[in-house]
Amino acid sequence: MNNHKLIQQALEVLPGGVNSPVRAFKAVGGEPIVLVKGRGCRVWDADGREYIDFLASWGPLILGHAHPKVVKAVKDEVERGLSFGLTNPHEVKLAQLVVEMVPSIEKVRFVNSGTEATMSAVRLARGVTGRKLVLKFDGCYHGHYDSLLVSAGSGVATFGIPGTPGIPEEIAGLTLVVPFNDEEAVRKAFSEHGEDIACVIVEPVAGNMGVVPPKEGFLKFLREITREYGSLLIFDEVITGFRLSTGGAQKLFEVEPDITCLGKILGGGMPVGAYGGSRELMSNVAPEGKVYQAGTLSGNPVAMVAGVETLKELRDKEPYDQLSDRAERVSKAVSDMLKDKGIAHRINRVGSMFTVFFTDREVYDFESAKSSDTELFGKFFRKLLEKGVLIPPAQFEAWFVSTAHEDEHIEEALSRIGDAIKEL
Ligand SMILES: *Cc1c(COP(=O)(O)O)cnc(C)c1O
Repeated sequence: MNNHKLIQQALEVLPGGVNSPVRAFKAVGGEPIVLVKGRGCRVWDADGREYIDFLASWGPLILGHAHPKVVKAVKDEVERGLSFGLTNPHEVKLAQLVVEMVPSIEKVRFVNSGTEATMSAVRLARGVTGRKLVLKFDGCYHGHYDSLLVSAGSGVATFGIPGTPGIPEEIAGLTLVVPFNDEEAVRKAFSEHGEDIACVIVEPVAGNMGVVPPKEGFLKFLREITREYGSLLIFDEVITGFRLSTGGAQKLFEVEPDITCLGKILGGGMPVGAYGGSRELMSNVAPEGKVYQAGTLSGNPVAMVAGVETLKELRDKEPYDQLSDRAERVSKAVSDMLKDKGIAHRINRVGSMFTVFFTDREVYDFESAKSSDTELFGKFFRKLLEKGVLIPPAQFEAWFVSTAHEDEHIEEALSRIGDAIKEL
């Protein structure tokens, strides 16, 4: 069945034709595509069209599509059964790898998505501190959990307004929202509510307002102020974990949070999330402690082996310098081509993740990110798609480079991107 027919049928039986809103291409216009196959850095749609892929399933596929070691491990495991509902050996192995690789984690609990990870991390923080308030940053996305799906109220340290119907004000009101990279706003929130703040949750490198790096010293400042007030610091490393280094952003910036949330790369393309921290802190999680959290399919053996093979490959090969060089090459070339065409833009890049903003302003928080010309972004996206390059179908997201984007593929991608930019 072709793309168009599949989308028509999807619209009959799935809200908006999708299982996650951004897949409907509302932010860029045009009909969404249905993907049927991926190999290395390429994907194919239901019409048989091929694309060089910088979406990478929104980040998990740092080794590219259908990496042979991951596929083999999954196939072998499927033969032995899909789920047992009791402990299996691969959970232990994946936990050992996480503990070995992520500096601040001594014990870890696996869940099935990034959302579950952040939800459980906030529960743990509230449970341990006996406090209710959560401080988050405008434009940071932590999944669709009620307490975290709150966008900014205007002004600084205002109590949040719900980001969606279905979240009562009483719940949204427990979330404080301040601008990313704004130390003064954080200080003010703590001076007003410090004794009630259970935790600060942050993407150490923001990836969901487009890529926005932390200002020099910002993460260390968060570490210090949370300690001062007895609040916990949560790093949501669902994107940055295993993406920016073997130990994520915390290893790169040398700041250790109390709780780390993981997902995406951790499952190597399968649905896996996790939260972890010190032995002492994690001893509060049931059944060791009183903070309850559970999952029928958590630690699923097939998902675990995909994670094990992915992390082993990253630990053993440490491809980070190479990934960063390649991403630099792509982003620099895109920037040069846009400049030649006289199009105002900013590219923020950290390691192998970057975002092209169509603005002449520096982008350091959500307000400045929103200065990007999203109409132009939509046009850029559609032109790229037409030329055979897939990037995230929304402005406030990251492009990802994988180990499967070899030099020759980058050449090819840049040539396609050049064709697209010419027609902008
Ligand atoms: C993707 C993402 C999540 C949510 O993960 P899901 O698996 O989609 O629930 C949470 N935090 C960050 C930083 C993310 O990028």
